[in-house]
Amino acid sequence: MRPARALIDLQALRNNYRIARELTGAKALAVIKADAYGHGAVRCAQALEGEADGFAVACIEEALELRAAGIRAPVLLLEGFFEAEELALIVEHDFWCVVHSLWQLEAIEKAALSKPITVWLKLDSGMHRVGLHPADYQTAYQRLQASGKVEKIVLMSHFARADELHEQASADQVAVFEAARKDLSAEVSLRNSPAVLGWPQIPSDWVRPGIMLYGATPFEEANEVAARLQPVMTLESKVICVRELPAGEPIGYGAKFITQKPMRVGVVAMGYADGYPRHAPTGTPVLVAGQRSQLIGRVSMDMLCIDLTDIPQAGLGSTVELWGKNILASDVAMAADTIPYQIFCNLRRVPLLYSGA
Ligand SMILES: *Cc1c(COP(=O)(O)O)cnc(C)c1O
Repeated sequence: MRPARALIDLQALRNNYRIARELTGAKALAVIKADAYGHGAVRCAQALEGEADGFAVACIEEALELRAAGIRAPVLLLEGFFEAEELALIVEHDFWCVVHSLWQLEAIEKAALSKPITVWLKLDSGMHRVGLHPADYQTAYQRLQASGKVEKIVLMSHFARADELHEQASADQVAVFEAARKDLSAEVSLRNSPAVLGWPQIPSDWVRPGIMLYGATPFEEANEVAARLQPVMTLESKVICVRELPAGEPIGYGAKFITQKPMRVGVVAMGYADGYPRHAPTGTPVLVAGQRSQLIGRVSMDMLCIDLTDIPQAGLGSTVELWGKNILASDVAMAADTIPYQIFCNLRRVPLLYSGA
């Protein structure tokens, strides 16, 4: 059996969820869209269900998967419905629904709903992706109230730059939000992971932590609060071949690495078809037989090479951690010029093995 696998520590997931709650004193929707950022949405939801205030996903397909697995907790659709026909399922399964556009508001007004729904009314406070214009916000709220189709409205917005703690942009977005929701007495929800970890002063009835649940930092710089998170996923494999090479020999596709001295090289069963980033360069950290080492040469589809020269105890069959509790996914992501969100979401082919359920 191929030794590549991802170990998922559900106890660490619960720990990180509790940190989100404790830091904010707010209710927290665990964001488990995109199959819980590659960690397996159903298993993660089951692990949190006893304590989570609810879950958030990207679309009704993801929400239905949770209900089919028996998850009864509230589930928010972060982009609401894509077609008005979904409203019947939203009612049937008690999903909570973001309204980010006027067309969605009109669809709710026109729909024949057998019971009223919970809407999270999204404001575009400056990110300019989705969300209602501030000038339309109060009217939209009143129209939803008047429609008779809605039992509860939560006011929400989303940050574009909350991971940049020295930027003014998030405070500006809060000011836009506060002005737009003036005099509306409803619960509010603004904070994603970077805002949960880095912006304690922002008002919240509900927070929406995603990446922090999985134990990865959303920040590029070192951050004390983020350092309390426990990595949930350990991506590991084994050394399947060892070679001793003299100086001057190329390794891997494109001969992108040439040995400068005699080297001992381990070949690991892990490649970009598993989601390991192909753009991770020579020097990207790995852990082998408990010691830090580095990737060398190009990552190929099913294999990659690492340096064993100074690690005599490492050899054929040694376990290699590509990321996890020792090698942070955020460090691998940074080396590959991407973010931990993407390297988690890209994970595929490897079996997910759970502990701490
Ligand atoms: C994905 C998402 C989140 C979670 O973001 P993280 O940075 O992973 O915490 C929160 N809110 C919305 C609207 C999202 O789409």
